[in-house]
Amino acid sequence: MRKRKFWGWGYADELLSAEEEKNIDSRIAKTFKLDEVETLPIPDIKDIELPESSLLVPKNLRDIMSDDKEERLNHTYGKSFPDAARSVLKDFSSPPDFVAFPNTEEELINVMDWCDEKNIAVIPYGGGSSVCGGVETQVGDSYSGVISLDLRNLNQVIEIDRESRSARIQAGILGPDLEAILKKENLTLRHYPQSFEFSTLGGWIATRSGGHFATLYTHIDDFVESTRMVTPSGLLESRRLPGSGAGPSPDRLTIGSEGILGVITEASMRLQDRPTFRSSCSVEFTNYKNALNALRRISQSGLFPANCRLLDSNEALMNGAGDGSNHILILGFESADHDKSAALKRALDICSDNDGLYEEPDSNKQDAHRTGSSGNWRNSFIKAPYFRESFTRRGIIQDTFETSITWERAHSFIEEIKTDISKAIEKISGKPSLVTCRITHSYPDGLAPYFTFAAFAKTSTMIDVWREIKLATNEICISKGGTVTHHHAVGRDHRPNGYDNQRPELFKEILTAAKSRVDPNGIMNPGVLIDPENKNIYNWLK
Ligand SMILES: Cc1cc2nc3c(=O)[nH]c(=O)nc-3n(C[C@H](O)[C@H](O)[C@H](O)COP(=O)(O)OP(=O)(O)OC[C@H]3O[C@@H](n4cnc5c(N)ncnc54)[C@H](O)[C@@H]3O)c2cc1C
Repeated sequence: MRKRKFWGWGYADELLSAEEEKNIDSRIAKTFKLDEVETLPIPDIKDIELPESSLLVPKNLRDIMSDDKEERLNHTYGKSFPDAARSVLKDFSSPPDFVAFPNTEEELINVMDWCDEKNIAVIPYGGGSSVCGGVETQVGDSYSGVISLDLRNLNQVIEIDRESRSARIQAGILGPDLEAILKKENLTLRHYPQSFEFSTLGGWIATRSGGHFATLYTHIDDFVESTRMVTPSGLLESRRLPGSGAGPSPDRLTIGSEGILGVITEASMRLQDRPTFRSSCSVEFTNYKNALNALRRISQSGLFPANCRLLDSNEALMNGAGDGSNHILILGFESADHDKSAALKRALDICSDNDGLYEEPDSNKQDAHRTGSSGNWRNSFIKAPYFRESFTRRGIIQDTFETSITWERAHSFIEEIKTDISKAIEKISGKPSLVTCRITHSYPDGLAPYFTFAAFAKTSTMIDVWREIKLATNEICISKGGTVTHHHAVGRDHRPNGYDNQRPELFKEILTAAKSRVDPNGIMNPGVLIDPENKNIYNWLK
């Protein structure tokens, strides 16, 4: 199996070129006015010490448990900025005692039964791409040990129902493997988070991830037909039905549960025919309010473009989609059934009404979404995580946060967040920061702004600086009436100053009661979303 980096994004053999690394140095030196840029080396596994595990694995589980050093390193963190920072600083002080790789649901149940009996924390692990501390194994001193439960071997498409256009799929399948199987039937799930290559169906459902579609089917929720979850108290499985109105949906408890109630082992998912008709175009706006207005009117028009992403001028500049003078709206329609050029034309009329400028799209050009501004943005989107890890090795915090808000507050909300976060970063780091924004998803009643920033720190201070900034972004999103996350999930990092203040108190009690029922010993992903009762849970941000 091709090895993944334990300290960053992607495969171990996927590194930036020497030229790209040099460009990063000069960009950092210029932006932060530095004479020299200090760079930490790529960590060598030989230089990292791991504490020995004191757990005794029972005989029936030995074949599926690994204490291999690299596996333990790989499963200590997810892929957030502080995860990468601690990795390049070689801080792996709280690794999992073992990583479990069950091959069947029965083996998975055996692992959970053992953990429940011995008071061992269980951290469900899909692709490990969490950016909010969702798979972290540092849980506090209330447990006799920690197991990272990797779903990698539960990776089959069990059956496809071509007529209903749905499939029963195991949770551990990675995005590309799933799409390769569905392609043979000319079907697709078409759920492409930026982390598609290294994230799983179970992870998407557990975190309510946001994917390819910018309108209508924004979260994975919209594609879930039924779910199957193994909890410490038994199986929770819903019926496969298109639109049951029978009371609160059991799936609503499973979707977004982030591993605190149990492990999702399978789901039936709604599929689509692969699109063959595509129409796309980029529109430039000089005025951001006009751009937002056009976006709102398109979102409320019933046209439902698949792609409808608004990059502010600085975001467009950073991603090579523009020269920094205009805001850019990337519009794309797709269908397996009919031509979409009329829908694109109507959306462009709306843009014209709001002073948007564009070149007339060529209806014969089906690959327009891969060229020009859209193509540049697409390429930069895929490369971004590789650049981020190189910034981390230099102490530069390049990070993102995302939220959502209703239309009537949208413009002031976005502008105030950019200003306030930029000021907060300057105060915390001592250097100015540019905060850019793209709108990743839009709804008839509001939108999801996604902010990117870079902040100066030294490799010795970057974690403390990041912590302060994270608390500030959590606090600002909540105090201004937004959500602490639109699609990156809550995990551990969005709780302080964030989810803990956003969530109604009575709902916390309901969720805690549900957890106590299915997980009475509080072993499932402790510290994510809520704290289990009667345990002392560690959160490194508090
Ligand atoms: C570069 C990058 C880009 C990203 N882009 C996007 C994006 O475009 N959209 C988006 O929504 N997110 C994005 N993310 C965040 C992340 O990829 C998503 O949260 C994704 O859904 C996680 O899937 P995973 O399989 O990697 O889950 P993991 O990271 O392994 O786990 C995430 C959470 O789900 C739980 N979990 C995982 N599998 C199961 C299971 N089978 N049963 C129960 N609980 C489980 C874990 O315990 C953890 O709490 C990005 C992350 C990175 C690093």
